[in-house]
Parts: sequence; structure tokens; C-alpha cells
Amino acid sequence: MVKTFRMRIVLYGIISMAVTCGAELVVLLNLRVIVEFLRRNGYRNSILGRDGMDIQVQMIILIISGGVIFLITFILLMDGLIRYVRRISNGVGKIASGDLNAEIPVRGEDEFAVIAKNVNKMTEEVKMLMEKEREAEKTKNDLITNVAHDLRTPLTSIIGYLELLKNKPDLEAKDRMRFVDIAYQKSKKLEKLIEDLFGFTKLNYGKITMKPGMLDIVKLLEQILDEFYPNFQDSGLSYEFDCPQPSILVEADGNLLARLFDNLINNAIKYGADGKMVRVEVRKEEKQVSIRVINYGKIIPEGELSHIFEKFYRVEHSRSQNTGGTGLGLAIAKGVVELHGGSITASSDIHGTVFQVKLYYSLADSPKRFETE
Ligand code: ATP
Ligand code: MG
Repeated sequence: MVKTFRMRIVLYGIISMAVTCGAELVVLLNLRVIVEFLRRNGYRNSILGRDGMDIQVQMIILIISGGVIFLITFILLMDGLIRYVRRISNGVGKIASGDLNAEIPVRGEDEFAVIAKNVNKMTEEVKMLMEKEREAEKTKNDLITNVAHDLRTPLTSIIGYLELLKNKPDLEAKDRMRFVDIAYQKSKKLEKLIEDLFGFTKLNYGKITMKPGMLDIVKLLEQILDEFYPNFQDSGLSYEFDCPQPSILVEADGNLLARLFDNLINNAIKYGADGKMVRVEVRKEEKQVSIRVINYGKIIPEGELSHIFEKFYRVEHSRSQNTGGTGLGLAIAKGVVELHGGSITASSDIHGTVFQVKLYYSLADSPKRFETE
């Protein structure tokens, strides 16, 4: 297989030379016959002297015919390549005028084949980028629609209860208190939603710069679990914290990690209330620490697992008012993990619903490049 354009030219040159030599040999061997033929056809000028053709004339004939034969052979051999270059040029022209479905055939392995391959790769990437752009535009529109809806729902009921309080000054103190309480709860919900939204957009549009430091992940998790103690009690759950080491140091942004595990543990309590207990396991791996938050109870269906990290995505059975989230918690969690160059995965079966986070001990080991303040 010819791998470079130069090799192809050399090869075609050699073939043309061989053809030319062969043809010249035939002419040379048949020179007498040619002279005889010309004589018989009436050519008797100075070129065809009495003793046959002059040696100089013979040379000139040989050189000219050799050149012509070489040129014709070479051009014939190059024809395929010239046509291929034209196809590449037409293909690039089409792509340049916006037809991203135009594909250039890849032929052989030389530089032209590499050009064709790269142009095809480039069009594929441009197509993917455009697709992503379209997707981002759609996501943005969805986000605006969802936010408008989620903000309006609690706001409508706050306004309703406040109007009730305003228009009925003679309400009993007990009812008045109840309505104030509902309006307060709804306002809190609105506040949380707005905070989550800010958190999410900041994380996703790169507005957050990490402030990493060395922190003890074991202490952090113990502290968060402690803070959730009343929530565990309210949901009738117990929790188990399983970590063989008393302390594990990780380079990370403490506030962001607290937010991440807050969301995961909050979910485990909210959606694992049927399961009696929540487990948090911490394990040391070679370059990473693995944290698993496990709850039991309702299983997340296989088809929904891949979507739960998307913003505003909520599994069908948890759309009810009593768990009442907005579907941003896991999107924020994923954003935080990715900001640290780590990974987050979810699995759910009869052995439990597991959210596993892996973080590098040192940010320098992570494949991500960091910008810090
Ligand atoms: P938010 O956290 O924004 O208040 P949310 O909890 O509904 O709302 P996410 O935390 O993003 O949103 O979770 C998305 C969905 O994934 C939840 O609605 C729930 O259906 C499912 N889910 C999340 N964590 C668990 C879990 N530990 N067990 C079972 N289902 C879960
Ligand atoms: Mg949540």
C-alpha cells in the first residue's frame, strides 16, 4: 500500500519509465521495418538517407517518442489521484457552504486520505457541537419554563393565604396562626428553590471558583449525620456510619462537599423512609476515597436511573407533595463532584439504593485542570 504522496509519485515515475523503456526497445528493434515502411510509402528525403536513417535523427526520434510515452503513461496513472483530489475539493466546498452531511470517501492511506479523514472528523464534530448547542438552548428554555412554574406554585398559595388574612380580620387566632404558618412554610420552600437555582446555575455556568483546602472527610460526614439527627428521628430511621479509619484527609472545598452530602443524605431520608435505616460507608482506595450513601425502600426503576442527575428530574412516584422537592439536589451534587474532578454514580435494586461518590485525595491526581482563586 502506498503510504505517502511522494512514494506514489516515485512509483508512478518508475512505472512510466518501465513502460517508456519497453516501448523504446520495440521502436529500436523495429527501426529498420519503420524505415522500410516509410520508403515504400514514398519518403525519400534527406532524413531517410541511402544507408538508412542518420544516427542523430534516430536519437531525436527516440527521445521525442520516449518523452511522449512517459508523459502519457504518467498522466494516465495520475488520473485517478487527480479525480480523487477533485472529489475532496468538491466535498470541502459542499461542507463550506453548510452541507454537513457531505462525506468525503477515504481512499488509501496517503496524505489525501488523511485530509479526507480529518475533514470528515471535523464535520462530525461540528455536527455534534451544533447538536449540543441546540440541546443547550432547549434545556435553557425548559429551565425557564420549569422555574417559572415552580416559583409560581408556592407564590400563588402565599398570596392566597395573605389575602385571606388581610380580608378577614376577625379570623380566630388559631386559624390565623395556621395560615401564617402555611405562608411561612411556602416562603421557605420558595427560598430553598431560589437558593438551589442560584447554586445550580453558578455550578453549571462556571461561576463558582473552588476554594480547596485539606479537610477530614470522616469528620465532615459525622458532623452532617449529626445535624440530620432530628430528621432521622422524624422519619423513624436509624443510621449507620461505617469507616475503618478515624480520619481521611481530602483536598476539597468544604462548603461544596457539605452541600453535596447534605443533598445525598437528605434524599436518603426523604426517599428511604420505608427502609428503616440509612448507611454511609467510607472506603480508602489507591488515589481516591469512596463514599457510599445507601438507603432501602423504594427502588428507582432502571430506566429512570440515568436521568436522576438531570435538573428538575423527579422519579414519578416521588412527585407527590409530601416529598415535595424540585429535582435540583442531584444535579447540584453532580456539579460539585465534577468540579472536584471526581465521579458520582447511582444504582438501585433490592439490596438498596446506593449513591457512590469518588473523590481524589489530591486535586493534582484528578484528570481535571483546576482554576482556583
Ligand atoms: P430537591 O433535592 O431539589 O429538593 P429532589 O429530591 O426531588 O428535589 P433530586 O435530589 O435531584 O431532587 O432527586 C431526583 C429524584 O431522584 C428524586 O425526585 C427521587 O425520585 C430520586 N431519588 C433521589 N435520591 C433517591 C434515593 N436516595 N432513593 C430513592 N430515590 C431517590
Ligand atoms: Mg433531593
